[in-house]
Amino acid sequence: MAVERTLSIIKPDAVKKGVIGGALHRLELGGLKIIATKMVHLSTVQAKAFYAVHKERPFYNSLVEFMTTGPVVVSVLEGENAILKNREIMGATDPAKAADGTIRKLYGANIENNAVHGSDGPDTAKQEIAFFFAASEIHG
Ligand code: ADP
Ligand code: MG
Repeated sequence: MAVERTLSIIKPDAVKKGVIGGALHRLELGGLKIIATKMVHLSTVQAKAFYAVHKERPFYNSLVEFMTTGPVVVSVLEGENAILKNREIMGATDPAKAADGTIRKLYGANIENNAVHGSDGPDTAKQEIAFFFAASEIHG
């Protein structure tokens, strides 16, 4: 297995619930190291650009609106197999289908308001990390 980096976002619903610490704690317990982190309130332009891959999906406009309802916490996570590990710790996209103990099961309300984001592969991880962080902000 290779050491990877991935982007995590604690979404506005989870920030509002006061579970930034709970979410980050679970990622750290899973062996992922936080090597960059900050709070950002996404503009509509930023949210649209971040989720551009989904622009043809019926939920795109609603997702963009949700992601701009309040601040998010963006982090770079590093570790063995970090991309898949993060997604395992997050759980399935739909919290109702997520495994017990996952962040989405614990904190997600529904398939849109699902508490966290994680990159889905090496290329998107690289793009998403660069979307939020300059190299000088990453302490790996
Ligand atoms: P994931 O975040 O698990 O990688 P996707 O990349 O498919 O899932 O979707 C991106 C985000 O869009 C999801 O995390 C969720 O917030 C939202 N989303 C996905 N599917 C739906 C849906 N059917 N209805 C509303 N929102 C959705
Ligand atoms: Mg995705």
